[in-house]
Amino acid sequence: VAPAPIAIVGASLAGLRAAQAIRAAGEDGEVAVVGAEPHLPYTRPPLSKGVLQGVEEEHTTDLGGEALEVTWRLGVEATGLDADRRELQLAGGERLAYRRLIVATGSTPREWTGPGAGLDGVVTLRTLDDSLALRERFARGPRVVTVGAGFIGCEVAATACACGLEVTMVDIAPHPMPALGPELGAWAARLHRGHGVELRTGVGVDAIEGDGRVEAVRLADGTRLEADVAVIALGAVPEISWLEGSGLSLTTGVRCDATLTSVSHPDVLAAGDVCAWPHPLTEGEPLRVEHWNNAVEQGRLAGRNALLEPRERAPHETVPSMWSDQFGLRIQAVGLPHRADSTRVLEASPDGERLVLASERRGLLHAAVAVAAPRRLLWYRREIERWTPFEEVVAAVRADEGALGPAPEVVAS
Ligand SMILES: Cc1cc2nc3c(=O)[nH]c(=O)nc-3n(C[C@H](O)[C@H](O)[C@H](O)COP(=O)(O)OP(=O)(O)OC[C@H]3O[C@@H](n4cnc5c(N)ncnc54)[C@H](O)[C@@H]3O)c2cc1C
Repeated sequence: VAPAPIAIVGASLAGLRAAQAIRAAGEDGEVAVVGAEPHLPYTRPPLSKGVLQGVEEEHTTDLGGEALEVTWRLGVEATGLDADRRELQLAGGERLAYRRLIVATGSTPREWTGPGAGLDGVVTLRTLDDSLALRERFARGPRVVTVGAGFIGCEVAATACACGLEVTMVDIAPHPMPALGPELGAWAARLHRGHGVELRTGVGVDAIEGDGRVEAVRLADGTRLEADVAVIALGAVPEISWLEGSGLSLTTGVRCDATLTSVSHPDVLAAGDVCAWPHPLTEGEPLRVEHWNNAVEQGRLAGRNALLEPRERAPHETVPSMWSDQFGLRIQAVGLPHRADSTRVLEASPDGERLVLASERRGLLHAAVAVAAPRRLLWYRREIERWTPFEEVVAAVRADEGALGPAPEVVAS
């Protein structure tokens, strides 16, 4: 009898990288990849940028899964798991036994559940199909409101501007991209306003109004914003609904140990947006990261670890990193800016267009955010790995001729 396959649920970035790592390690047994979407793995960042704007086509998002020797089960949803019996349930009633399982089901956008939820023009953006559908709407010249000013809200607003559309961005937080802290948020607010985005921060949305289709977005302060499209960008939740009753421990995601192994079932591993694991920077607290680099790094490690016995598996300790592109500028972060005690603008170019902000937690460097300064960020990443005291970082930057320069008052405020 052939041994049961290694199964991967989620045919996207983390799932693909896991399958590639399994093959790269020389494993030649069956690998079955189950994916709810009909597409082979594709990359999502262009969906809110080039693909949405219409300057990048669908095929450019392809991640090259075709060449990989695995059994693709695409357009098939996993509906349940019996972790004790090592068996997946698939839509349609099929059961799939596995030897090892990697859960890579990612995350799913938080929906708008308030008044107006079912109106035509209330949309979320996660999949290629979502992006192509929104692009079609953009071609009709709508007035756009993004409900939420996180990464997706900001990128959609920037792209809508590039398409020549009228766009308003609303968030209950006091500034855009709250995950990167108030200093970067103040800079981002200036950036968006400078490009013509109408920004409403510190105020929530009460209702989306319309008769069959979106006509306006009503804010908690009574403002009525006329609109044709409301892009709901309220963050994402880990896709674990299909795992309820599976026996797996689920807290804010698939709860794993440092080696990305489920804390309740050593034959199950997780990777990417869905994985909650203790990172050295979180002092044992489970962390979930919803960014591209993390899905790649965790996918690879989960693939390699799945071939090993639990005691042989390596931990995932890479410093998290991410990027976002808005108005032709690349914003990048390393570390965990949302957990910082305080943040300072440590470097800026004379025109204030390039910046580095550094964050401190308990006296140590904990995160850095850069605008248009990718090479500088590599240095900060190494210092985070070394747990360098923050004041040592400040002194080193002052003495470093390769740094961008001291932050002018207007930028630092
Ligand atoms: C529009 C957009 C833009 C982004 N831009 C950036 C960026 O600029 N920089 C950055 O760092 N990150 C960005 N990200 C985040 C990045 O794309 C994600 O972190 C990454 O896709 C996570 O990969 P993943 O494989 O863990 O999950 P996902 O890519 O979410 O894939 C999960 C897959 O699992 C499938 N699935 C779910 N449930 C089931 C089930 N029960 N059965 C079978 N299949 C299932 C889903 O259909 C999906 O295909 C962006 C995300 C989006 C949506």
